[in-house]
Amino acid sequence: MRVVRAKAELRAALAEPRRRGERIGLVPTMGSLHEGHLSLIRRARRSCDLVVVSLFVNPAQFGPGEDLEAYPRDEQRDVRLAEAEGVDLLWAPEPDEVYPDGFATAVEVDERLTGVLEGEPDRRGPSHFRGVTTVVAKMFNCAQPDVAFFGQKDAQQAVVIRRMAADLDFPVEIEVLPTVREPDGLAMSSRNAYLDPAERERALALSRALGAAEAAAASGERSTDAIVAAAESELRNAGVDPEYVEARDASDLAPVAELNGRPVLVAVAARVGRARLIDNVVID
Ligand code: AMP
Repeated sequence: MRVVRAKAELRAALAEPRRRGERIGLVPTMGSLHEGHLSLIRRARRSCDLVVVSLFVNPAQFGPGEDLEAYPRDEQRDVRLAEAEGVDLLWAPEPDEVYPDGFATAVEVDERLTGVLEGEPDRRGPSHFRGVTTVVAKMFNCAQPDVAFFGQKDAQQAVVIRRMAADLDFPVEIEVLPTVREPDGLAMSSRNAYLDPAERERALALSRALGAAEAAAASGERSTDAIVAAAESELRNAGVDPEYVEARDASDLAPVAELNGRPVLVAVAARVGRARLIDNVVID
């Protein structure tokens, strides 16, 4: 595995494989790799000739009060894990390689997709997703992957990136893979590192709440208000006050009042201790 920093190095490393017609897969990450990331990397390894993993804690997607400084970083460990999975190129640029002096452009997806499911608008919402879509567009341009892999854990991000890629004609397939969980149900996240044992226990309420939503739907409930209420009650019982619990159309994030045969995303965000956690399920 080669670790590259500069865009020019990345492009040079990809030129020959691309000319040979190799299928290039990109897995964008912010590092601090866990089994969720590794599931994307393994899928990329199985389906591509050449696997690029990017490792970049993107300042543009953090809000003013967010955890940019505290975000867990351990490049040496990430290098070891990526190498063990057979990654070909680990692209770990410095922030000024991605955002050089004078950088003045953003890629922005409409608020119908980015201005929903937001508890605290100054933390998340459109400005967060502007940061995500801008950096992912740049990564698509730098690596020019045939396919890019994302996790369903960040369901809204996946919807937003699919939209961006389609709208801007990026010649890349977007593949979204299932959320990887701890044995007790907690969705894996780099931010789980912030949880102390008591908070870790309380954080289980998120996946339990989503389980309650699924159970309500499975027992015949069609009203999304009632399905959301089932989830909220689990959270309340655990003393977790959610930023949001919402049911929305899984492909365009439009509000849905009743299950209607189309997949419905039930998504939750909640702060537990220092960690802002998100999780979701799709009810078919
Ligand atoms: P991050 O490093 O948190 O920005 O995540 C990088 C990629 O890994 C994103 O596409 C995430 O959706 C995905 N990811 C993060 N956690 C998980 C998980 N528990 N299961 C599956 N994919 C995940």
